[in-house]
Amino acid sequence: MKSAKFLLFILLLSGFSVTSFIPAPPDPSEGMIKTVIIDPGHGGKDPGAVGKRYYEKDISLQVGLQLKRILNECLPHIKVVMTRDTDEFIELHQRAAMAQDNKGDFFISIHCNALENRTKFGTETYVLGINPGQENYQTIIAENEAILFEENYGELYGGFDPSSPEGFIYFKLLKNVFRTESSHLAQKIQHQYGDRLGRKSRGVKQAPFIVLYLSGMPAILTEMGFITNYEEETFLASEVGQIFLATGIYRAVKAYNMEF
Ligand SMILES: [Zn+2]
Repeated sequence: MKSAKFLLFILLLSGFSVTSFIPAPPDPSEGMIKTVIIDPGHGGKDPGAVGKRYYEKDISLQVGLQLKRILNECLPHIKVVMTRDTDEFIELHQRAAMAQDNKGDFFISIHCNALENRTKFGTETYVLGINPGQENYQTIIAENEAILFEENYGELYGGFDPSSPEGFIYFKLLKNVFRTESSHLAQKIQHQYGDRLGRKSRGVKQAPFIVLYLSGMPAILTEMGFITNYEEETFLASEVGQIFLATGIYRAVKAYNMEF
């Protein structure tokens, strides 16, 4: 024991610092996400899901803009590209092309959920997958049906029928090369929603969303709550709610970059 103290005394004399044992905290600027694509769902002639008072397209845009603002302020080394920053209609294949043209490292698509059962509420985040649970069919069909607003959707998407689960066959050749990265961010977003923001988490799910399929990079689609639930609609449409949700996604991106 005495000799240990003596050794420490010698080390301190020779300029050794105890803090050199403490590893430096990870730097989020070192992480994999250098360019993030923020994709507010729907827009223009496509309102997305419709609540009693609000449209999904307006909520997804406001959260997207808040997320951009927070990322610019807190992680200024990350380049932020928005697929839209106004109320305009952008076709799904154009969103994916924009992500690729800007060499995005991650694609974050922002949405609100909807069900006929207005008691359902909570958040869920999706990664690309071909085996969704049947309980998620309504959400998947509603999001993929955005292509019905496009002029040439039949040609553009190889005859894909977005309105039926049988259409999921379109994704049969899916090679899910970004599954690990996508799931990792999805888990972090759900952790933020559930544990940090006190929203109900319905978990990370997989689904054949066409916009994730086409993005060609790690990608998630987050459903921030049900616009069809009166209380959740009120939260989603409030500025406080939108800042909360954007902050949650920002914290998830930051944590992701500290690990990858
Ligand atoms: Zn949507």
